Amino acid sequence: KANLDIHAVIDDVIGFLRHHSNLENIQIETDFETDIPPVLMDEKKIKQVLINLLMNAIHAVTPQGAIKITTGLNVAARRISVEVSDTGHGIEKENLPRIFDPFFTTKPTGEGTGLGLSVSYGIIKGHGGNITVKSKRGHGAAFTLSLPVTPPYQ
Ligand code: ADP
Ligand code: MG
Repeated sequence: KANLDIHAVIDDVIGFLRHHSNLENIQIETDFETDIPPVLMDEKKIKQVLINLLMNAIHAVTPQGAIKITTGLNVAARRISVEVSDTGHGIEKENLPRIFDPFFTTKPTGEGTGLGLSVSYGIIKGHGGNITVKSKRGHGAAFTLSLPVTPPYQ
């Protein structure tokens, strides 16, 4: 693990996805907190989480839509947050409690393993953080992950 700037990690992941997926008609916007402290993280694992969230968002907005990545700092809680929101098809209310379960997928056979969010949840919990979701069918989805700031940078 290393103390890293989450913004550099996010920028790397966006670059990777621009190179590896078809983002024609898909907008990816960032809104970064001005002064973000470093976070102790396993870079490859955190990138895997961000790629999972962004690939889900890309799938949900395809063929066209917008994705926004917003970072924040909660000084009192000594945590940073990263929200990935999209304007896609959203999540049915009855599916919301199940989306972090291993193998839960609404994608056709062969298109989704249903492992992305369960693996991501485990990685974030393993970093002392949390992931939550807000979504309404037809109104997009927003996933927020929080991670503890590295002491003594608080
Ligand atoms: P998979 O992508 O293989 O289906 P995930 O664990 O990544 O598995 O996601 C599980 C399910 O959660 C998806 O099949 C989909 O129903 C729902 N989901 C996840 N992210 C989004 C999103 N951004 N918009 C709408 N539904 C989503
Ligand atoms: Mg997925």
